[in-house]
Amino acid sequence: MTAWSLSKLSFRAQIGLLTSAVAILVSAMVGLGAVAVSRNQTVELIRADLQAVARTMADRLGGGVNEKLREISLLGDLEPLSEIWSDAAQIRSALELLQQATPTFAWIGFADKTGKVIAATERLLEGKSVADRPWFVHGLIGNTIEDVHEAKLLADLLRDRAQLEPLRFFDVASPVYNAGGELVGVLGAHINWEWASELRTSTLAADSHPDTKILIVRRDGTAILGGEAPDQKVLTTEQAAYAYRTGAGAFADDQNVSAFAVMRGREGAQLGWIVVAQQPAATALAPLTRLTATIAALGLGTGLLGLLAAGGIARRLSQPLHALADEADQIGRDPGKTMIHHQHGSAEIEQLSASLRSLLRRLGLEEEKRHALEEEATETVHRLAADIRELKALAHTDPLTGLLNRRSFMEVAERAMRQKRTAEMSAAVFVIDIDHFKLVNDTFGHAVGDETLKHVAETISAALREKDRAARFGGEEFVALVQDVSRKSLAEMAERVRGSVSVRAVLPNGDTVTVSIGAAMILADDIDIEKVIERADQELYRAKLSGRNRVCISPVRSSLAA
Ligand code: GH3
Ligand code: MG
Ligand code: MG
Repeated sequence: MTAWSLSKLSFRAQIGLLTSAVAILVSAMVGLGAVAVSRNQTVELIRADLQAVARTMADRLGGGVNEKLREISLLGDLEPLSEIWSDAAQIRSALELLQQATPTFAWIGFADKTGKVIAATERLLEGKSVADRPWFVHGLIGNTIEDVHEAKLLADLLRDRAQLEPLRFFDVASPVYNAGGELVGVLGAHINWEWASELRTSTLAADSHPDTKILIVRRDGTAILGGEAPDQKVLTTEQAAYAYRTGAGAFADDQNVSAFAVMRGREGAQLGWIVVAQQPAATALAPLTRLTATIAALGLGTGLLGLLAAGGIARRLSQPLHALADEADQIGRDPGKTMIHHQHGSAEIEQLSASLRSLLRRLGLEEEKRHALEEEATETVHRLAADIRELKALAHTDPLTGLLNRRSFMEVAERAMRQKRTAEMSAAVFVIDIDHFKLVNDTFGHAVGDETLKHVAETISAALREKDRAARFGGEEFVALVQDVSRKSLAEMAERVRGSVSVRAVLPNGDTVTVSIGAAMILADDIDIEKVIERADQELYRAKLSGRNRVCISPVRSSLAA
């Protein structure tokens, strides 16, 4: 098979095709074998039959020819006739007697030594010379039989017999001697070849087959009986020579089944006639054709049965495979399906089923392991993400108070530096420091110090607005970025922060802590936030010096104040 490959077909189709091909092949071989054997046997039987027909005909033909010769030869040898060979009337009456007894003699005549016909039946040819006729020439020497020929001298004389076909004869002749043993002439007879025709009819009457044909053929292959035309060549020279050599046998021929027999005896040797009996192959082998049709029908039936059986076998063999494939196909699609059923069938199917089940079991275990690992990994990822979030928050905030640390405050403040500012409306920075905090630690302990720091941080955040941001810069020092503020409101806001701390940051003994605040506006020409913080820090220093728990605001420089 070429592009269309058998191996691409389904298992079932392959088994079906191969099995039915084998079934059809086997029945075709058996059928053809049977036809060939019975053809040979039939041909042999027909040949044997034809052989018998040919042999019978050849023997009857030889016997008949011999009988005619003997009759003539006996007549010539008859003692009482030895004295009459010079009396034409007497000879004629003897010859006519013989012709009446044997009507196949068309003509019987006696010619003297010179070949002149002395006497003949119906006086035909009397006085004429037959000196050059073969029967006369050969008859001077001894008994002779002459092959079939057309009537030559007698043709016109016998015309009244109104034969449609030209008259054909074979001749027998015998030398005649007088009482003194002296050759006086030749006695000859023409025998109507119709005789052979009648012999053929009676021979064929005994044969049951209506299509049997008999031909009589000369050694050169020309037909003297049974040809479509007189002397038609019906056997090749080789066939005729073969037949004459072997005496009896059969010819291989597509058209006919033929057998032959060569005439035996002295006359056979002289004439060499071959009798061929034949039947047209078409009718002779007709029973064989019927047999072939029967065998073909049987073969077809067997083939069809084979086809059905092949279909059944293929279905039976492939069914467990289909079941396995269908079930295996569900694995991975149907989440509830993780195992296939055990398949019963041939050893291979059972083994395949067992192997698949064990494979699925191993895959199941692997899947469970993989699942556990995946869950673990997801958990780790979540944990790491949380850690990162926390670390990020830590990086931006002060761990104790939760306010921004210095670094992230600087980022926020630098963004604020880039925003639009006017003389009236800008942002500002507070630097806030707890007063005498060292004393708090010293008095109440570090833990209370920490708590106080947290509390102060919360209070500062609460006192500021949503958009403002507070940071712890370290120790007990805080910095706030105050957005969108005028110089006037700046003092109010700083006061509010300071005031709320002094009220709310209560110590264990009931006292409150206070803060000092230095404030500075971000001015139009400010580029560096550090500078602003520095200005606020100077104000803080001033606030400390001037008694603490107060607010000092950086004055606006003359250029801006103007
Ligand atoms: P002043 O009014 O002049 O600011 O006096 P002060 O005592 O607040 O200033 P000083 O700078 O002398 O002391 C600051 C003290 O703050 C020193 C230190 O023990 C304390 N401190 C700094 N950081 C922390 C902290 O994180 N927790 C606690 N509990 N105390 C801290
Ligand atoms: Mg301080
Ligand atoms: Mg202080």
